[in-house]
Amino acid sequence: MKRNKKILLSPPHIGVNELKFVNKAFETNWIAPVGPNLSLFEQKISEISLNYHVAALSSGTAAIHLALILLGIKKDDEVLCSSFTFAASVNPVKYLMANPIFIDSEKESWNMCPELLEKAIKDRLKKNKKPKAIILVHLYGMPANMEKIMNISRIYNIPVIEDAAESLGSKYLGKPLGTFGEFGIFSFNGNKIITTSGGGALISKNESLIEKSKYLATQARNKKPYYEHLDIGYNYRLSNVSAGIGLGQLEVLNKRVLAKRAINIFYRKSLSSISGISFIDESEQNYSNFWLSTMILDKKKTIGAENLRLYLEKNNIESRRLWRPMHLQPVFSDCISYVNGVSEELFDKGLCLPSGTAMSEEDLQFIVDKIKNAI
Ligand SMILES: *Cc1c(COP(=O)(O)O)cnc(C)c1O
Repeated sequence: MKRNKKILLSPPHIGVNELKFVNKAFETNWIAPVGPNLSLFEQKISEISLNYHVAALSSGTAAIHLALILLGIKKDDEVLCSSFTFAASVNPVKYLMANPIFIDSEKESWNMCPELLEKAIKDRLKKNKKPKAIILVHLYGMPANMEKIMNISRIYNIPVIEDAAESLGSKYLGKPLGTFGEFGIFSFNGNKIITTSGGGALISKNESLIEKSKYLATQARNKKPYYEHLDIGYNYRLSNVSAGIGLGQLEVLNKRVLAKRAINIFYRKSLSSISGISFIDESEQNYSNFWLSTMILDKKKTIGAENLRLYLEKNNIESRRLWRPMHLQPVFSDCISYVNGVSEELFDKGLCLPSGTAMSEEDLQFIVDKIKNAI
């Protein structure tokens, strides 16, 4: 069977009401980064996040940047970061001339290893460098070990920023991700589970911190007949037009989560009996949105991740290797890291499979057949 349409990794999936909200913005001339869509979007995000306070922003990266500023991160401060992630988790640390310290993954969730985190903290304390924050990622929708990580955060009094860019709709012990740390961040980039075409959000239980983030995100203007500036500001607010897309997308978030989970089950059922192929398991505490379905390929028993990727590419199917850990990235080669080999092995063996929720069952079957052919 020859197909012309390329199957993409995770393209946007627009619902029915997005355009209605966008049109409303045009009809009422609320085209600026302020207006009714924006307020309502923040309210709706709050409703699915334990009524935490929300600032809708221009990107998830901007949200991490503001969270670090609000935690007082300055030049030469140390910030403990998940190594197994997308670079946007870490780049804002460098914007502030601070130093990321990379922590490797645990095998269970693929996220930050609690034991290694504690070891790193003890080691930094011994060197008289107390880390100022932890940026913890929930990768591909899978929750990190929140019980252990938050315990460490409390013992050593180091605040956590939860990078939940990939995990809106995921839960740990029934509690939504992003609500465990001092701050949570979401991304609404085009490839994420829901999108505003580009955007993000910062959430916190602490109202004054979120108010301050909105102030910093709108150029730090003080209310005077002229603009008076006491702080360096940023242009980081989400537009009212984009928020309209987000409102339509939020209506289908639950559907998208269920669809992503169904895609994951389909891959598992169709492929896990093949020798040399395995999937990450969801523990009892975890409810993952399975933003991307991933697969691990044994190098001896299969053709391996990179060869499969190339084979799928030839068949008009986009897949992607797992994130290359930050401690292996040339741009971060001067950073300290605490490693155990887990993320390196995952990078070596893992592949992200097409996970778009608009795929048909035929598409999925086509992908599975091609994977079976290749292996
Ligand atoms: C997408 C992503 C980000 C950045 O979000 P943007 O909205 O694209 O800036 C940060 N961290 C992780 C883990 C991501 O996947």
